[in-house]
Amino acid sequence: MDKIFDTIVIGAGQSGLACGYYLRKAKLKFLLLDKQSEPGGAWLHAWDSLTLFSPADYSSLPGWPMPKTEQKFPLRLQVVDYLMKYEQHYQLPIQRGVEVTHILKDNGIFHIHTSKGIFQAKTVISATGTWGNPYIPNIKGIDKFSGIQLHSAHYKSPDNFKGLKTLVVGEGNSGAQIVAEVSKVTEVKWSTKKEPQFLPDDVDGYYLFNVASARYRAEKEGRPFDASAYNLGNIVMVPPVKEARERGVLTSSGSFTELYDQGVIWENGQQEQFDTIIWCTGFGYDTKHLRTVVTLDERGSTETIESKSTTTDGLWLVGYGNWTGYASGTLIGLNRSTKQTVQEIEFFLNS
Ligand code: FAD
Repeated sequence: MDKIFDTIVIGAGQSGLACGYYLRKAKLKFLLLDKQSEPGGAWLHAWDSLTLFSPADYSSLPGWPMPKTEQKFPLRLQVVDYLMKYEQHYQLPIQRGVEVTHILKDNGIFHIHTSKGIFQAKTVISATGTWGNPYIPNIKGIDKFSGIQLHSAHYKSPDNFKGLKTLVVGEGNSGAQIVAEVSKVTEVKWSTKKEPQFLPDDVDGYYLFNVASARYRAEKEGRPFDASAYNLGNIVMVPPVKEARERGVLTSSGSFTELYDQGVIWENGQQEQFDTIIWCTGFGYDTKHLRTVVTLDERGSTETIESKSTTTDGLWLVGYGNWTGYASGTLIGLNRSTKQTVQEIEFFLNS
């Protein structure tokens, strides 16, 4: 493998594909590597009923719009289908089934070590998302619990929970959506540290994108961001969540301090038995393949200015969330972030 690419993108989920669009436009010599054998990134693994927060009109990658769907919010498999067709449409060069294990840099060239050999490139974009790094807090007694525990990353459908008293932990969208559907088949309690913050019914993910954009503009212009002008809830009232609220199941039972073999001990000291705990407690960043070129903190993040590494020349990180560009964790937000990233790469290669 003596070919040296201008850029290698690690990960061909939505973030990697958006980078591919701009790299192709810039006529750079590039390649995307992905460890999965099929297109779709994290959307391949999410639970069966997951939908986008935003209508198709507001969920497009650069260039080729997501087709309109019959229902307001596109379904998970419609997103997978869109991503598959997007990479075919732009004939993006992707090698699948290639896992990047680590990277070394020598004389200005990155040596990307993978399960299929070593690739070389002048620049690297890491776009590996968060799904591979689910986070579960290390709460006292967690090892003592004898029931079933799983993270939302591995939750597929309510079918396996029938008759099992279930505790769902976490106040975000995953928690609300999983409470909504598991509570249809069994008794569920919802544990949250803070009171869940619901957005108004007529607000969708596009609103969150606009809030993130306003914050971004304010910071760029050195102005304070007036958060009071916005309703900063975070739970989008997609139809199943609205329906669950109407059934009265979306109320928090508060938080617990520790687990015991049969369940949890609530803050007031009372014990409660559960058969299953579903942790909807978020993700770190799946960046372990970068540990040989940058310092990573315990969540997997590293120092960047927007998407550009501040410590390793020639390295960019895309799609991991606000620290790599505001709203860059969403389909629509990737446009701005990946366009800027590829402009920076062109500048770097030409200087
Ligand atoms: P991923 O989709 O995770 O893709 C990363 C790719 O990198 C994968 O294909 C993986 O195989 C590959 N990879 C990882 N490590 C390696 C390695 N070492 N070597 C080679 N390949 C590797 N987003 C929206 O835009 N709109 C929404 O409405 C929305 N709703 C959501 C609702 C919920 C409840 C949740 C949990 C998420 C939602 N998201 C939404 C977020 C979205 O699912 C993720 O942010 C998105 O999948 C991230 O894309 P990505 O390309 O950065 O990462």
